[in-house]
Amino acid sequence: MAEKYRATLVPGDGIGPEVSEVACRCIEAAGVRIEWERHDAGAEVAERVGTPLPEEVVESIRRNGLALKGPVTTPVGKGFRSVNVALRHALNLFACVRPCKSYRGVRSRFQDIDLVVVRENSEDLYAGIEFAEGSEAAREVVAACERLQPKKIRPDSGISIKPISVGASRRIVQFAFDYARRYRRRKVTAVHKANIMKHTDGLFLDTARKVAEENGVRVLRHADGQVTYEGGEIEFDDRIVDNMAMQLVQKPELYDVLVLPNLYGDIISDLCAGLVGGLGVAPGANIGDTGAVFEATHGSAPKYKGQNKVNPTAVVLSGVLMLRHIGETVAADRLEQAVADVIAEGRDVTYDLKADRNDPTAVGTREMGEAIIRRMRA
Ligand code: NAD
Repeated sequence: MAEKYRATLVPGDGIGPEVSEVACRCIEAAGVRIEWERHDAGAEVAERVGTPLPEEVVESIRRNGLALKGPVTTPVGKGFRSVNVALRHALNLFACVRPCKSYRGVRSRFQDIDLVVVRENSEDLYAGIEFAEGSEAAREVVAACERLQPKKIRPDSGISIKPISVGASRRIVQFAFDYARRYRRRKVTAVHKANIMKHTDGLFLDTARKVAEENGVRVLRHADGQVTYEGGEIEFDDRIVDNMAMQLVQKPELYDVLVLPNLYGDIISDLCAGLVGGLGVAPGANIGDTGAVFEATHGSAPKYKGQNKVNPTAVVLSGVLMLRHIGETVAADRLEQAVADVIAEGRDVTYDLKADRNDPTAVGTREMGEAIIRRMRA
């Protein structure tokens, strides 16, 4: 009998329980035995116990260092913050990793895409340091800014603060190099807007260059101010974010692992998910020094809840990432190949993977899971 792991399972809500059940069954069928510690989180839990993310959920993930999570709805205007954001903070999951890979049979304008987006998860404009327009705090912040520098801020402004630190930048870029080495990727590209925001994005870029040098890349600073890069077991490059967005749709094959601060990472990872056919097939992971939470990029799609209708692929592929993370490479390859085969064949797939979304031959979430399992046994 194969080694047994222990991991936390947060099925989530909306379509979460349906897709995560399929993922667990697929992982088991791939030959890896995992003992799941099941915990609920979200709005229903909040009604029962007063918080959408009970401490025992965080404790369980901390103890196991490993979790598979379904999407959790963030209720609008209920006064508590997103479970997903809270988890990232509580467990210090500083890296969000989104591999974006084309699978034959998924309708998309692009083929042969194979990119990995590594997004910094802990700071930048998403740090949550904000001051509402008209508040006393906003007035104080505006007054302090005007005292410290010459530019004026309109008095009717809301303010969001963008902290970017050397420490977090260093950590995420090193993570990208380590990831590239572990998964045999060829190049890391740092994405920024250093030409405009010198003290935040500029700092991110300077730090990325230092980390690149520590990883064997030669950083050549030319007399005209240009910087180029040479050598390194893993190559390094940098791009300004707007140019990156254009290049990703024009020549995505030039890129491999992208490393970005939080906000650009959020946007570019959706762009890359779009390149490979959208949310239904985009897996993800949030990784820290002491734990890793694997989850699809998509949300809880509440309108499809309980209908056995949506595509389980993104969560199953998140399971593949989880298997790779724990070193179960053979099982991961088997499961990924089975998913790819079922999608390429195009028969036992959910409505969103059919050429016509109303195709009556589309199968349900569970049935697509069964087809993946059958494929592994064939
Ligand atoms: P969503 O991803 O839930 O759904 C948007 C649309 O995408 C759906 O209506 C559906 O048409 C399609 N879709 C999503 N997943 C699919 C799948 N597996 N198969 C086929 N089609 C699929 O995005 P949303 O409607 O913006 O968010 C709903 C809720 O989910 C919100 O409360 C949001 O906060 C939450 N959310 C949670 C997470 C997470 O837990 N990590 C991530 C994103 C959004």
